[in-house]
Amino acid sequence: MGALPTEHEPFEEETLDPKDWAALRTLSHRIVDDAIDYISGVRERCVWQDMPEAVRASFDAALPQAPTPVAEVYREVAANILGYPMGNIHPRFWSWYMGSSNFTGALGDFLAAVQGSNLGGGNHAAALMDQQVVDWCKEMMGFPADASGTLVSGGSVANIIGLAVARNVKAGVDIRELGVAAIERRLRYYGSDQMHSCHRKGMETLGLGNQALRRISTDAELRIDVAALKRAITEDRAAGFKPACVIATAGTVNTGAIDDLQALATLAAEEDLWLHVDGCIGALMAIAPENRFRVAGIEKANSVALDPHKWLHAPFEAGCVLVQDAAAHRQTFAVTPEFLVATTRGLAAAPWLYDYGLQTTRGFRALKIWMALKEHGIVKFGRLVDQNIAQGRYLSGLIEAEPALELVAPTSINIVCFRYRCEGKHGEELKALNIEIMLRLQDEGTAVLSDTTVHGEHCLRVAINNHRTKRQDLKLLVDEIVRLGREIVSANAAT
Ligand SMILES: *Cc1c(COP(=O)(O)O)cnc(C)c1O
Repeated sequence: MGALPTEHEPFEEETLDPKDWAALRTLSHRIVDDAIDYISGVRERCVWQDMPEAVRASFDAALPQAPTPVAEVYREVAANILGYPMGNIHPRFWSWYMGSSNFTGALGDFLAAVQGSNLGGGNHAAALMDQQVVDWCKEMMGFPADASGTLVSGGSVANIIGLAVARNVKAGVDIRELGVAAIERRLRYYGSDQMHSCHRKGMETLGLGNQALRRISTDAELRIDVAALKRAITEDRAAGFKPACVIATAGTVNTGAIDDLQALATLAAEEDLWLHVDGCIGALMAIAPENRFRVAGIEKANSVALDPHKWLHAPFEAGCVLVQDAAAHRQTFAVTPEFLVATTRGLAAAPWLYDYGLQTTRGFRALKIWMALKEHGIVKFGRLVDQNIAQGRYLSGLIEAEPALELVAPTSINIVCFRYRCEGKHGEELKALNIEIMLRLQDEGTAVLSDTTVHGEHCLRVAINNHRTKRQDLKLLVDEIVRLGREIVSANAAT
């Protein structure tokens, strides 16, 4: 046992705060300067580069026992992390579907951590801002002020929350007490064969099972076939299932297709189904003057998932779910009885925000969204959405004008599916050639795109959810693909 301090040996507690704030101030200023150089110079760097062995090996280092000066800690981060990013903040990153972040948002994340509040709830400013950002999202979607919502990690969790509320409302039993086994007629959910994989995970997690999620075929534009959906509902009802929920997709991952939200709202109302819209890609078109018509009807959904870390470019992570029926939303998750108001003033005199989702402790995600919205205004964000969609059209035009390339799916918004074509090459051979082009673009650091298969056809896929992309970047992409395609084909012919 250690000796107790005496009057002559004053005892000093330990803390994580620095002894020397002045030195930390200097280092912090340098970090901010470096960060500004990093973002302002992003266009000059490779989109992506693989890590050398030494960098990989650095992540095998053991749990640190002894201290390291924070300046040295930062040096290591600068060398091993900042130099080898995923690349999605780069103007020529178009893989999968991501946002490209923004510096104001990064400052917001920093300040949120500095201020340190827990958004589980409470009577404090961050909690009001959290609710304000949710209110702003409602306004963007045309949801009424008395709808509810919550900020979550991203679209996947936002979707699960929507599907969970749908399950509890449609179950017909007290599912929170009795569980899914008590459901008398098994629930069925419906989405198109293009819906995102997170819905499968959601169904599994909710205990409903993957088989309860029916994939409905899509038309030539890759939108859900509403007549086929109606037939599936009728069929399921006759077979003793309970059709419960339609998951509409406003912007599919593969091609950006937007299901007919008006028709689905009508069908859901007729059939007494919950309508959930997965708007992770496209919901925010509602703020874009030239394209908002594409998501008309989204305001009729019972719940919507949207992703501020995609088209609002919030630094990861930030998703949002909105639910028309606030009581149903709260009743799905709340463990704090409504009547239990701990205090009438003070820190606990406010609604608990954790009653609207799965987390208890919640981060202050709202600040990074709020700061960027305040700085630029929603009108500019709407223009940026329109800009990306116009760029999708521009790229599609370049592809149509280039004999070595062909579109593989119709371009609906900002996702372009196409391939390099080559006389005499088909199927697997053509696929291998296109994959090699895609990998060379990555290796050379020129551009990052991904590939997919649409209605059985392999293709390259460019998703322009990026406020830094310029048309010259897309022109460069087309030129480079044509150059690489020729190079690979002639090298193969020579061997
Ligand atoms: C991105 C996306 C998701 C998942 O959202 P995360 O933010 O990645 O969790 C779900 N659905 C669609 C259509 C998406 O594009």
